Amino acid sequence: MEPVPDIRFKDKKLALIWEKVVSGKPLDIADGLACLQTRDLISLGKMASWVKEKKSGDYVYFVINAQLNPTNLCVLDCKFCDFAAKPGDKHAYNMTTEEALARLSNELHEVHIVGGLWPDWDLDHSLELMDQIRERFPSAQLKAFTAVEIDFFAKRAKLSIEAVLKKLMEHGLVALPGGGAEVFSKRVKKELFDKKIGEERWLEVHATAHRLGLKSNATLLYGHIETLEERVDHLLKLRAQQERSGGFLTFIPLAFQPGNTGITDRFTSAIDDLRTLATSRLVLDNFPHIKSYWVMLGENTASIGLNFGGDDLDGTIGEEKIAHLALAESPVGLTRSRLLAMIREAGRIPAERDACYNILNVYENGNIPRENRKPQLV
Ligand code: SF4
Repeated sequence: MEPVPDIRFKDKKLALIWEKVVSGKPLDIADGLACLQTRDLISLGKMASWVKEKKSGDYVYFVINAQLNPTNLCVLDCKFCDFAAKPGDKHAYNMTTEEALARLSNELHEVHIVGGLWPDWDLDHSLELMDQIRERFPSAQLKAFTAVEIDFFAKRAKLSIEAVLKKLMEHGLVALPGGGAEVFSKRVKKELFDKKIGEERWLEVHATAHRLGLKSNATLLYGHIETLEERVDHLLKLRAQQERSGGFLTFIPLAFQPGNTGITDRFTSAIDDLRTLATSRLVLDNFPHIKSYWVMLGENTASIGLNFGGDDLDGTIGEEKIAHLALAESPVGLTRSRLLAMIREAGRIPAERDACYNILNVYENGNIPRENRKPQLV
């Protein structure tokens, strides 16, 4: 058991929340709002770090992975999305299976596949891509297709969600990514992504995956037109789903990249990012991991986020397109040594993982793994 730190609170509301955290009581909407609004940032970080250390000690996870976005053609046109295109658009692309495979390599332990909703990339074509990846890159695990894509596959193939997930699992799927959740708010959905699936269907897909033994992840897209209450409400709904079905691995708060969307021209501030990360760690007490996602946060904030509740940086990523077409300023892909340095800068120990958080190597000293040791998980 991690010793409970003596935190000198400047914000008395946080002191009351800390009592709940230490005694294992779940936080409510007022607590979440107080965390998102506090000016006592350092105390908030200490609270979230304590919870993180109870779950994963000093380890911070990363994975040697590639993000594969086979097409950006999409039948929908969500207002916040700079990635999607229609045929004939200057930035439109649609890879062949061979072009997709050419972006992968033998050292990968995870291939993360997400893309636009496009009839060329239906269930059968996606299964064929998965088969090819498994044959050519056997050490890579497949984490693929958001709940939105699963719903699209099901409707086009006239299959149930369960039948689609079973087929994907037969072809090597080990986890679902967390995208497509956006914000569980009917108001925001109506304004920004009216034609896309909403909260109920997104949760149904993940609940079905968990029932079948498939792990999954969850996201929140924040920093656009949502209110702080809607942010906390989203977290509470995810916590309730985890209570019911128990298969979420990681929560990933995604900082909105304004790009050319016209929704807002402001980026989230580093303070807002760190508050959101720490609040997520505190509210989602039943999630094993919280990701400090460097692609959206940038390297500096993501590294600081490892002392605000984050215990995972994601990975090397390769040629990510979704955030970068929205003009994210992070580099396109990081090396293993840069990830190790970011984790060490935060005073943490790098633990290389696979898509399901099995530890492959621990880097206690230098960039050569010395031992393979599992952290104490609560
Ligand atoms: S967010 Fe997804 S579903 Fe919406 S337009 Fe972009 S790619 Fe298509």
